[in-house]
Amino acid sequence: MSPSPDLTPAEFREHGRSVIDWIAGYLESPEKFPVLPDLEPGTLLRAVPKSPPDRGEPMAAILADFERIVVPFTTHWNHPDFMAYFANSGTASGILGETLTAALNVNAMLWRTGPAATELEQVTLDWLRQMLGLPSSFFGTITDTASSSILYALAAARELHPELRIREDGMSGRPDLPRIAIYCSEEAHSSVDKAAMTLGFGLRGVRKIQTDSGLRMNPDALAAAIRSDRTEGVLPLAVVATVGTTSTTAVDPVPVIAEICSREKLWLHVDASYAGTAGILPEMRHILDGCERAHSFVVNPHKWLFTPMDCSALYTSRPDLLRRAFQHIPDYLTVSGSQDSVNLMDYGISLGRRFRALKLWFVIRSFGVEGLQSLVREHIRLARLLSTWIDDDPELERMADAQFSTVVFRHRPPGLEEEALDAHNSRLLDRVNGSREIFLSHTRVRGSYALRIAIGNIHTAESHVRRALDIVKRESSRAS
Ligand code: PLP
Repeated sequence: MSPSPDLTPAEFREHGRSVIDWIAGYLESPEKFPVLPDLEPGTLLRAVPKSPPDRGEPMAAILADFERIVVPFTTHWNHPDFMAYFANSGTASGILGETLTAALNVNAMLWRTGPAATELEQVTLDWLRQMLGLPSSFFGTITDTASSSILYALAAARELHPELRIREDGMSGRPDLPRIAIYCSEEAHSSVDKAAMTLGFGLRGVRKIQTDSGLRMNPDALAAAIRSDRTEGVLPLAVVATVGTTSTTAVDPVPVIAEICSREKLWLHVDASYAGTAGILPEMRHILDGCERAHSFVVNPHKWLFTPMDCSALYTSRPDLLRRAFQHIPDYLTVSGSQDSVNLMDYGISLGRRFRALKLWFVIRSFGVEGLQSLVREHIRLARLLSTWIDDDPELERMADAQFSTVVFRHRPPGLEEEALDAHNSRLLDRVNGSREIFLSHTRVRGSYALRIAIGNIHTAESHVRRALDIVKRESSRAS
């Protein structure tokens, strides 16, 4: 049998039109789907054949199955009633960029294997850097997620100490190595722990620094922990400060932390994965004060900058150390001639690199800086409005400041003791999500169970936010 040809250009046009039509309809009215599917785990596993087809199937049948099997079994992140975790948006312009990325199918491991992808990544991240008011000395590279970004940043931090010879000699079986410690607040994201697990610092190497009443890292406690580690012969390596914690969007005092890092010669990584985007607003730029002193900084356009998954922007003032951590060139990847160009494979673990910059370039160009600012500003307005509704309701209690687009609160009906509130609110969340009308998530604030409403989808309007609170109130009357 001769090899199966791909779709002909005519077939591609035909099916491509139906796909684009489907996407346009989806973006026009995502609300025709429930935000959360009503399914048991394994439903899709049972709905599709266990083995692959021997012969190619018609594209029309595949697309029909996409609508029949995939779409109903999807949690719709692109739905305006998705307000869980950090809600995001796959916007039309980003989707077009993503589609063209697939068409070009570039693997930008070396400059010459993807000149446009390599250079557009630098240009686009430099635009974003300017939008955030970060220094021109920051070198940006795109990774898949903030979790990879922090892993890479802390691997670069390890290269602040070439005398440890970790790159060459590794860490196992080495009694000559000191224990290494990294520092973050007790509210930092679990990706800090995962990076420590992966890089050989271990979970025991992560110092969770106490927070103040606003859930921000306490810099005195940080300084004390560093001092105590030095006394014990532990090597303090890096501090991870968070601008916008996952749980309550608290902002660590980066300027003071930067001062401590400079005095102690520690690497400073700033995790601004979600809230960093707010720094594009002049009135919110203060949240990034001190970040100009970071060795590395991460913001995720795939969280709140209207760019489809996945796209994490990692900046560093020490690209030389990032390269030292990851550059490893086998003979088959050597390049003759000029060595001036950036080869993206030198800045992370993956050799292959998707052309992720294209969708971000499309998004920034199609909205413009002012367009993006007005979207982010509107989300912040909605969150503040929601905060006032919650504050005005005697049965609701806000659990944290809401300076970005996420509001954390709980239901506190009269007569219910503190000990009963966690279970009450957990049941409430189950009812709210069980309605499948909206999707919220939860957290714990100083140990107490709380609900989160995270506004981040481009289609989420005031009416959706009002309705979300109405649904919480409706279900709260049934949750006891
Ligand atoms: N850092 C913070 C503050 C986060 O909130 C999150 C995820 O929500 C992450 C890091 C991890 O992001 P990613 O999913 O891109 O790895």
